Amino acid sequence: MTARLFGTNGIRGVVNQEMNASFALDVGSAIGTYMGGKVAVATDCRTSADMLKSAVAAGLMASGVSVLDLGMLPTPALQFYVKNSGVKGGVMITASHNPPEFNGIKCIDYDGTEMPREKEEKIEAIFFNKSFIHKSWKSVGSIGPVEGVARAYSTAIKQHVDANAISNAKLNVVLDCANGAATATSPDLLADLGVRVISLNSNPQGTFPGHPSEPTADNLKDLAATVKATGADLGIAHDGDADRTIFVDNKGNFVFGDRSLAIVARHIVRQKGGGTVVTPVSTSSCVEDVVKEEGGEIVYTRVGSPVVARKMIEIGAVFGGEENGGLIFPEHQYCRDGGMTAAKMLEIVATEGPMSSLLEKVPEYCLDKRKMECPETRKEEVLARVVEVFAKERVDTTDGVKVYFGEGWTLIRPSGTEPIFRIFSEAKRVEAAKRCGDHCEKALREILK
Ligand code: MG
Repeated sequence: MTARLFGTNGIRGVVNQEMNASFALDVGSAIGTYMGGKVAVATDCRTSADMLKSAVAAGLMASGVSVLDLGMLPTPALQFYVKNSGVKGGVMITASHNPPEFNGIKCIDYDGTEMPREKEEKIEAIFFNKSFIHKSWKSVGSIGPVEGVARAYSTAIKQHVDANAISNAKLNVVLDCANGAATATSPDLLADLGVRVISLNSNPQGTFPGHPSEPTADNLKDLAATVKATGADLGIAHDGDADRTIFVDNKGNFVFGDRSLAIVARHIVRQKGGGTVVTPVSTSSCVEDVVKEEGGEIVYTRVGSPVVARKMIEIGAVFGGEENGGLIFPEHQYCRDGGMTAAKMLEIVATEGPMSSLLEKVPEYCLDKRKMECPETRKEEVLARVVEVFAKERVDTTDGVKVYFGEGWTLIRPSGTEPIFRIFSEAKRVEAAKRCGDHCEKALREILK
């Protein structure tokens, strides 16, 4: 097996340890050798953004690429530019929701989607073999700024929602940008939509002084409290690079990403009078329930947003997304889009009513999470045995093994980074979810004896 450079979300590392300037220079050379032509580059707001962008850009230029510097932007804004500008691809300097000492490099394909694994492997091969094409002095690339991308991105989002309905509803919204890349777009986008915005952490600061940039309930306590104190209609929070959006309802309650995914899925399927929604096998059944209730279909994929996006393209899905708040709107673009998600939820609240009432109509499920140690070398064989053990049940092997019991389901997935299985169970009642987990844990223990 060849060594890997790209993980599920690009290359990540601690700045000036594994993620240092000379490493970024070589990665830039490898990407430039592979892509050629013109390549767009953007960053989130981390303290190391300029250092890593400069190094990647130097590598790109050494291999003859003309670099278009888009500045600080959400990842989906870079993707929007790449899709519409005819460049060969994009490079995003971001570590998304990771702590501030991290940064990362992520490749965007020419069509604006996250780069598929087979293309990343080609870049990895160039990197590890050091087979860079470094051009002669006459043919090295140059770099120049591109202005106005944030505005063009926001304008496109506005065209894909009912902007009149949003503006007429005179909504009050509390926006938390986590001091991240959303600061470049979301405050203006919401104001443009006629919403009154109270903003938190909406200045770019690479140390994330407000709270860590992962939009968890714990990190969004100030947002929830501000929604409550101001009587706002909605709280909106982005992760560090704004490809994801998480909400707080009008009562100040944190809303889990599977439930906001269900609300948007239901709205879109209802609007379209049917259609297919794509989501990973790990997503709560509440999404399938509401989609089917509206006459739609659900298709499950492996975990990972590029897989969801590509399945959506393949089957012409009306909507797709992950339960972490990464939602994909095909009429806009085939990638997770935090700005589009915020605008769509505003449309839904404006046309269907308060988020707390919308949530009442989404079935509630209970989760049971556990993990079990398993040596890396045995994972595959153990999963194959699990399938045999539960041959009488409905079993889905799209990603790991998902066993449907009468009262709920359990998903057993091997961790990509640790010698463990993650075991998630879901059912309408907590005892039932625990029973599902117990069945699977017992089976795994027997197999691993
Ligand atoms: Mg992100």
